[in-house]
Amino acid sequence: MTGPADSAKGRILLVEDDPEAALFAIRVLGMRGGFDVTHSADPAVALRRAREESWDLVITDIEMPGMTGLELLEQLRLHDPLVPVAVVTAHVTVDNAVSALRNRADEFLEKPLRAEPLIETAVALVAKGRAARLAGREVVLAIGAHPDDVEIGAGGTLLGHHHAGHQVAILTMTRGARGGLEDQRAEESANSARILGADLYLEDLDDTSISEGDPTITAMSRVIEQVEPTILYTHSIHDVHQDHRNTHRAAMVAGRGVGRVYCFQSPSATVEFGPSLFVGIDAQLSGKLAAIDAFVSQTTVREYLEPDLISSTARYWGRFAQARYAEAFEVVRDRGAIRSGPARDAHEAGRSRSTSETDSEDPHAIA
Ligand SMILES: [Zn+2]
Repeated sequence: MTGPADSAKGRILLVEDDPEAALFAIRVLGMRGGFDVTHSADPAVALRRAREESWDLVITDIEMPGMTGLELLEQLRLHDPLVPVAVVTAHVTVDNAVSALRNRADEFLEKPLRAEPLIETAVALVAKGRAARLAGREVVLAIGAHPDDVEIGAGGTLLGHHHAGHQVAILTMTRGARGGLEDQRAEESANSARILGADLYLEDLDDTSISEGDPTITAMSRVIEQVEPTILYTHSIHDVHQDHRNTHRAAMVAGRGVGRVYCFQSPSATVEFGPSLFVGIDAQLSGKLAAIDAFVSQTTVREYLEPDLISSTARYWGRFAQARYAEAFEVVRDRGAIRSGPARDAHEAGRSRSTSETDSEDPHAIA
């Protein structure tokens, strides 16, 4: 990711297979407009970069070999409902226009492009995208006892928050010395957090002897003060591992001021784990698996990290969600302002509640 200095005006991903048209747009947007422009002539490569990095605007040609700009738009929308997209075509047809609208293209530009309208469109769309992200801003903190706990329990949900434009942070209480070389696991944690679009806070408590009081509560409180989360995820109390239970207890104290608190399932959860919130993660499952796969030193020795176990668990919880794959959460608290806006709608769309959920303070509760 580029620093704020060279991306202040906006990062634009330009997808254009015609070298002449690409050169014109790069010159106009980069040199005259002052934007940070990245060009890709290959729509498949562009789609990957669009998913993996953060952009202020995507401008795509429609007529390209391999994948049309409209197909690219459709795929992109599965992961990122908010990034502004302008589609460019030399042949405006009804089919193109309908498809572009259905997949929420923000602007339809006709070739040949002209300099002034192109810059004006880019300025307007970058501003629109940034405003949409700010309006729906939630701040999410996920607290886990060990490296990989958060990724297994809530990795797909966190990625969903990220794609909805929310700020996401992960706090891991130990460096997992008992489970592998400390430095290696710290690096793996950082890589995994990057895949989920999350900031990582790594504490250094003693593995297998996390206390439910201090220093655990103080360490959590420090991060909560800094991050100021509106949503908190942590371990369930229904877990056979004492580190997980004590992390849960400490988080309940340190996070007492957070309006929404949910508990995820660990591989060591007991049968008492009783979720009532199910978050669909169909579009996030592959990202979740990639985040877990980042723990390479563990994936070869720990059976609970096997992709088929992760997938089949999510497939099972999908029974309770309007999704094929889901993550499940116990609800500790579900109140406080949920800001309206496209970001919230995008994320909440995949959520389902079991009928037993009766928190009357929930603003979305069905009367
Ligand atoms: Zn753990």
